[in-house]
Amino acid sequence: MDLSFSQEDRDFQQDVQSFLKAAWPQEMRDKKSRSALGKLSKDDLVGWQKRLAEKGWAAVNWPKDHGGAAFTPTQSYIWDLERAKVGAPGVIPFGMSMVAPVIMKFGTDEQKAKFLPPILNSDVWFCQGYSEPGSGSDLASLKTKAEDMGDHYLVNGVKTWTTLAQHADWMFCLVRTSNEDIRQMGISFILMDMTTPGISVKPIVTLDTPAENFQEINMVYFDNVKVPKENLVGEQGKGWTCAKYLLEFERGNAYSPALKGAMAHLRGAAAAEQDGYGATYSENADFMKRFNQVDVEILAMEFTEFRILGALAAGQNVGPESSMLKTRGSELQQSVTELALEITGNYASPLDSSTPAPGDNFQSVGPQASNGVAQEYFNTRKVSIYAGSNEIQRNIMSKLVLGL
Ligand SMILES: Cc1cc2nc3c(=O)[nH]c(=O)nc-3n(C[C@H](O)[C@H](O)[C@H](O)COP(=O)(O)OP(=O)(O)OC[C@H]3O[C@@H](n4cnc5c(N)ncnc54)[C@H](O)[C@@H]3O)c2cc1C
Repeated sequence: MDLSFSQEDRDFQQDVQSFLKAAWPQEMRDKKSRSALGKLSKDDLVGWQKRLAEKGWAAVNWPKDHGGAAFTPTQSYIWDLERAKVGAPGVIPFGMSMVAPVIMKFGTDEQKAKFLPPILNSDVWFCQGYSEPGSGSDLASLKTKAEDMGDHYLVNGVKTWTTLAQHADWMFCLVRTSNEDIRQMGISFILMDMTTPGISVKPIVTLDTPAENFQEINMVYFDNVKVPKENLVGEQGKGWTCAKYLLEFERGNAYSPALKGAMAHLRGAAAAEQDGYGATYSENADFMKRFNQVDVEILAMEFTEFRILGALAAGQNVGPESSMLKTRGSELQQSVTELALEITGNYASPLDSSTPAPGDNFQSVGPQASNGVAQEYFNTRKVSIYAGSNEIQRNIMSKLVLGL
C-alpha cells in the first residue's frame, strides 16, 4: 500500500502552507492561544471565514457550481493537517457543512438562492435544532409541534443543547407536523429566523464555562412562533430524510490531523514540565508509556483514515467506518486531554483565578493548544455524546457489520 501523497497533492500542500502563512498570521495564533478553550469571538471567526471565502476554500465539500472548493478527500485531509499545525480553526459547521448540503439536495431554487450565498460568505449563521429534553438518541420521539395554519406554521416547544444559538441568525429545526404510527413520518425540516417573535434563547451553564463566561450551549423556547410555509425544506412530513442526510455530514470528519497537532504540543509540554519527582514528564516512564500508547493509537487511526480516503477517492461510499472513526476519534480526543490534565497538575483547577497567565508552558497543551486545560478536559467529554453518542455508534456498527 503506497501511503505517500501524489506530486499534485504535495503541490496543493505547499499552496495551503503559503495561504495559511498569510491568512492566519502570528497575531491570530497568539490571540487564539490566549483565549479560553481556544475560542475566538464571532467577529474573529467571521473575519477568518470571509478570508477563506475569498480564496474559495470556505466550503471545502461544496461543488464548484455553488462556489465550493470541491476538495478531493485527500485535499480535505491535507487542509485539516496543515490547519492543525498552525492552530487555524475550521469553519463553524452548522451552516456551511450541515444545512447547506440539505438545502442543495432538498431545497427549492428560491431557498438555494436565498441561503447558499450568505452561508458561503459567513453573513448568515445557523444553529441546529434537533435535540429536545427527552429526545436525544431517540430523536424520532421529538415533540416540538408545528401546526399547519395555511400560509404558515405555528411552532410551540423547546430545543436543548443548541450550540451557539445565541449567535445564530437562523435555526434548522425538526418539528412534528403530524402524529403518525411510524413516528419518523410526522417530522418536518424547517428553517426559522431567530429574530421571529416568540423565540427565546437561554444559556446552559456548564462545568467548562470559563471566567469570561464563554457560553456554548443553550435552551431555545418557541412560544407561538409563526414560520412561513416557504421555510419548509423538502416535503411536509419527510423531514426525517433531510435529518438523516445531514447527519452524514455531521459525522464525516478525519480526526488524526488535529490529534497529531495536539500530541506535538503535548510532547513539548511534557519535556518542559516537572512531574513533582525531580524529573520532567518526558523522563517519567509511567507517563510516557501512556503517552506512547495514545500516540500509537492515533497512528493506527491515521492509517484507517488513509484507507477510507483511498476508498472515497475511488468513488466508494463510507459505511460503518464513519461510526468507527467517530467512536475511536472521540475516545482519543478525550485521552489527549487526560494526558494534558495530568501534565498541568493542580494548575488545572478549572475555575481557579490563579490559572496560569498566557505564556506559561501548561497553556500550550490540549487538542486546541489553548489555555484552560481543565475547561478543555471537561469540554471534550461532549465529543462522545453529540452527533450520536458512542453507544449509538456501536449499535450502528453491530447492525451494519454483524447484522445484529
Ligand atoms: C456539548 C453538546 C452540544 C450539543 N449540541 C447540539 C446542537 O447544537 N443541536 C442539537 O440538536 N443537539 C445538540 N446536542 C445534543 C446531542 O445530540 C445529544 O446530547 C445526544 O444525541 C444524546 O442525547 P441525550 O443527551 O438526550 O442523551 P440520551 O439519549 O438520554 O442518552 C443517555 C445515555 O444513554 C445511552 N443510550 C441512549 N439510547 C441508547 C441505546 N439505544 N443503546 C445504548 N445506549 C443508549 C446514550 O449513549 C447515553 O450514554 C449537543 C450535546 C452536547 C453534549
